[in-house]
Amino acid sequence: MPAAPPIPVAEAQRRIVERIEPLDAERVPITRARDRVLAAAVVSKLDLPPWDNSAMDGYAVRAGEVHPGGPHPVVLDLPAGARSGQSLPPDGVARIMTGAPMPIGADAVIPVEQSTGPAGSGAFAEPGEEVCFEVRPEPGANVRRRGEDVSQGSIVLESGIVCRGSEIAMAASAGHASVDVVRRPEVAIVSTGDELVEVEAAGTADRIVNGNAYGLATKIEQAGGVARPLPIVPDEPDATNEAISDALTSDAVVTIGGVSVGGRDYVRDALVANGVEIVFWRVALRPGGPFAFGVAGGRSVFALPGNPVSALVTFDLFVRPALRKMSGHERCFPRHLRARLAEPISTRSDKTYYLRCRLEPNGSNEWSASITGPQGSGVLSSLVAADGMLIVPEGVDNLPAGAMVDFVPIDDRIAWQKAVA
Ligand code: AMP
Ligand code: MG
Repeated sequence: MPAAPPIPVAEAQRRIVERIEPLDAERVPITRARDRVLAAAVVSKLDLPPWDNSAMDGYAVRAGEVHPGGPHPVVLDLPAGARSGQSLPPDGVARIMTGAPMPIGADAVIPVEQSTGPAGSGAFAEPGEEVCFEVRPEPGANVRRRGEDVSQGSIVLESGIVCRGSEIAMAASAGHASVDVVRRPEVAIVSTGDELVEVEAAGTADRIVNGNAYGLATKIEQAGGVARPLPIVPDEPDATNEAISDALTSDAVVTIGGVSVGGRDYVRDALVANGVEIVFWRVALRPGGPFAFGVAGGRSVFALPGNPVSALVTFDLFVRPALRKMSGHERCFPRHLRARLAEPISTRSDKTYYLRCRLEPNGSNEWSASITGPQGSGVLSSLVAADGMLIVPEGVDNLPAGAMVDFVPIDDRIAWQKAVA
């Protein structure tokens, strides 16, 4: 039977994510929850703030009793951490610091900057001394009400939210030392090839380093997964079968190489022998066309071509979105930017090309895209130099300088610049 023709990139992406489900949940301490996706809503155990408190360093007063210009005795001292429930005696004011509980009876805070004490304008009076105020405050001025941010029992973080600094601060403030998050997918890496050695043996005659495994392990961890690199597999059917059988104990499997039409490419046969349904093989894409995706009982298999750039690019296009979905993310694909070509490019129109390029602001509120060098699927240096990839869609061949193209960032390089603008 002839093999099915290569499918478009977008169709491949759709067919992958529709076969992926988020993993189950686990509870982790909030100190380990960074970048994890909440599997359950977080409900506050507390009111925030937990009591009426001062928003300023100053004096807690009864607004109606303030006589602008007249002296007021300082009868209470309320530093942060002061006991709540203290009463403000009639005709007195309380020295109060930001966050300290409002004394019973007081309804406003006058900032110290708007007061004059024995030591002068803007300087605190000591308890027992007197203070004068410039103006009478509105009731409620500079008071934060109990529960005005969060009320006890309310949802403060919805399920599906990604835990970053602000979310962790909220969970902690709401009384949670741990949260329920979606489990990280464990991803086995199977490198195939008689020519491969690990990095410790770099320089061995007739051998190349299994560089892809290290790069992909890094990308798996960046994508939220846990990488499980397995030993290099020789190009032999039995060894390939056994390696894939072992790898299929993980949530997902990434194989490298051996998935093309070479005489010793055994990966697809080994997948089938292990009961993997091959959902598709080959994408109309360069670099990275001979990519296959399969599923086996809730586990997914991504068979990446061996050429280094092909492997890394197909990871970004097909594996990372799947790992994000497994990890609970609703947003699985990077946003594309629009950029203006700094130079003409020529490709073939039969497939989508992803070209390594650098982006620079061009001074007209636009991005300018320049190719970083030779685009062969084994050329890592032009990938290292790139901020991302520009996309020449199927059906397009030559593009002139100045044409607008889609650009997809790699990692977050373009998010950063050397100096403030
Ligand atoms: P393959 O897809 O197995 O035909 O491999 C294509 C090319 O990628 C060959 O030149 C391989 O040597 C190279 N290659 C395959 N696997 C790896 C790997 N794990 N790391 C680096 N290069 C690789
Ligand atoms: Mg090979």
